[in-house]
Amino acid sequence: MSRRWRREGLSIGLVPTMGALHAGHLSLVERACQENDRVVVSIFVNPIQFGPGEDFERYPRDAERDAALLAKAGVDAIYRPTVAAMYPPGSSTRIHVAAVTEPLEGQARPGHFDGVATVVAKLFTAVEPDRAYFGQKDAQQVAVVKRMARDLDFQVEIRVCPTVREPDGVARSSRNAYLNVEERKAAASLSSALRLAAGTYAGGERHPQRLREILRERLEAEPLAQVEYAELVDPETFTAPGSLAVLAVRIGRTRLIDNHDLAMEFPG
Ligand code: AMP
Repeated sequence: MSRRWRREGLSIGLVPTMGALHAGHLSLVERACQENDRVVVSIFVNPIQFGPGEDFERYPRDAERDAALLAKAGVDAIYRPTVAAMYPPGSSTRIHVAAVTEPLEGQARPGHFDGVATVVAKLFTAVEPDRAYFGQKDAQQVAVVKRMARDLDFQVEIRVCPTVREPDGVARSSRNAYLNVEERKAAASLSSALRLAAGTYAGGERHPQRLREILRERLEAEPLAQVEYAELVDPETFTAPGSLAVLAVRIGRTRLIDNHDLAMEFPG
């Protein structure tokens, strides 16, 4: 289909997802529909980006609901490969992006970004999109995908869309479905910490150490929250210090991430 569209001179947008679609995914789809003649949404819960003991098996899946949402959004095709089609027996190649994959999520989830880079490269090869859409919600993933696309000469524009949040500030995530009522309330501590730090930054505070403390203090005030990291990094390298505040926090059994560039006003 993609090849035919290309022959006809139509532009193609790709939105890679793992399904269990929510308003965050749909914002990417909407933007893709505005900017391209044809839009493909891939739905693939990619086993190789999950570590042992992570939530691959229990990750929410609802193909029918996803298909209905995407039909309503006006997408032209859903690409939903099986695990066997993506990784047939004998498949053994992995793409490793160095440096930007090492800290933070890379530390916490060894091999995760190799899995992400490999599947995204395969999706790019299969669909040959002109543009591909990713959410700022997964900021380090954005940096990894941009690096990979540049380094491997993929002729695709990487578009980054802002994080869609619930009315109380909680970033939309398929994993929010794991939270019980108490945990869902506690999840607001992430966006609340980011809002507080952005306000402090706007007031003139620039010391990374002080801003980091503000993030941590707010998170630690929430009894159900276990902070994995709360750091200020450069949004491209993720190692050098910068104004991007990145958080990973466990609420009960659920691991949540969020981020915000403190140089920008926190929405809402
Ligand atoms: P996932 O299905 O979790 O792999 O996410 C698919 C894409 O949607 C990724 O590029 C995510 O960054 C993006 N995404 C997930 N949640 C949000 C959100 N709340 N706002 C914007 N984009 C999001």
